[in-house]
Amino acid sequence: MTLEDLPIQSLMPIAQRPDIVFSHGEGSWLYDTRGKRYLDFVQGWAVNGLGHSHPSLVRAISEQAGRLINPSPAFYTEPMILLADALCRRSAFDKVFFANSGAEANEGAIKLARKWGRLHPRADGAARYEIVTFEHGFHGRTLATMSASGKPGWDTMFAPQVPGFKKARFNDIESVKALINDDTVAVMLEPVQGEAGVIPATDDFLRELRELTRQRGLLLIADEVQTGCGRTGKLFAHQHAGIEPDIMTLGKGIGGGVPLAALLCRDEVSVFEAGEQGGTYNGNPLTTAAGLAVFGELTAPGFLENIARLGDVLRDRLLALSEEFGFEGERGVGLLRALRLGRDIGPQIVEKARELAPEGLLLNAPRPDLLRFMPALNVSDDEIEKMAAMLRRVLRSIL
Ligand SMILES: *Cc1c(COP(=O)(O)O)cnc(C)c1O
Repeated sequence: MTLEDLPIQSLMPIAQRPDIVFSHGEGSWLYDTRGKRYLDFVQGWAVNGLGHSHPSLVRAISEQAGRLINPSPAFYTEPMILLADALCRRSAFDKVFFANSGAEANEGAIKLARKWGRLHPRADGAARYEIVTFEHGFHGRTLATMSASGKPGWDTMFAPQVPGFKKARFNDIESVKALINDDTVAVMLEPVQGEAGVIPATDDFLRELRELTRQRGLLLIADEVQTGCGRTGKLFAHQHAGIEPDIMTLGKGIGGGVPLAALLCRDEVSVFEAGEQGGTYNGNPLTTAAGLAVFGELTAPGFLENIARLGDVLRDRLLALSEEFGFEGERGVGLLRALRLGRDIGPQIVEKARELAPEGLLLNAPRPDLLRFMPALNVSDDEIEKMAAMLRRVLRSIL
């Protein structure tokens, strides 16, 4: 069915959706109900690491759905146990709590840090609770994670905010130091600020933060909802800097498209007691089975190395376009990259790319002056070439 035949008025208008109804996907391609196909460099906002409907993910979900979907989070199931074990074996962390969205995992991280701050209080015995976060950071859309975020305008949108978040400047260690006081319990950041426009933290900044937080008795929380699970060419982006945070959150890519997220920490920081954290769907076997299938592919020999290589291919294509059209270059890590346009034509490019015929191209402009690229982690070299050629056509028609 096409859009004209469907009763769309019943949906809350939370996004300006184009007049397209998508029906199915395969790898890097999405198909609409009119039969047009689109090369997808959005992939559900960096969610479908294996592309659309990857066979091993489909198999894992189908088999698990036929066996057991949700016995309650208060019971053990094999997928939940095996995925937690797999995550701990390949990371610096010892304990995992599964959630259903990045925001929920980050809420968990904030609660965990506040609980830890109660157990490790100020000299006068009062609980420490303040978390230093960053200008332009993005941590989710719940009240606490919006308060932790540094997106302009978010402080007033649903005021009053949840208190206890102070915003430092990204890649500026002095601005972090200036905000630390007796109440501070943690510093929380994205290793690459995604929604802000793909701004990587420098390795030096991450190392300085690790050093500073250790010296001052603070937790370091890495929000790897967007950067984790292979997106940057390492399993987790903080590994590029050779540091180990105390807490990490994962979302997006961990489920390959199904709602799965995770909160991870080291043993000393795992201070929730029974009853303090939970949720109806947390760690259910359907989504954790999907997570296991994704993790199996991510950690297959050569997979991560290939992401780094593909990232270089994408970077070169973007740099060539930047040069040809007089843009301001590109930035990013692995397969999370941005083309800096230097003028506010991002939304126009996104629309024209989608409307290309006979095949469309799906791109994202988190800010009007740049495009963000988040293809499937198994995108082919040919598909990157094709994307660059399509984008070039769009740019020629606009500029
Ligand atoms: C997307 C994102 C979130 C929020 O995840 P949801 O699953 O949408 O709740 C949090 N942090 C970062 C860095 C993200 O990119």
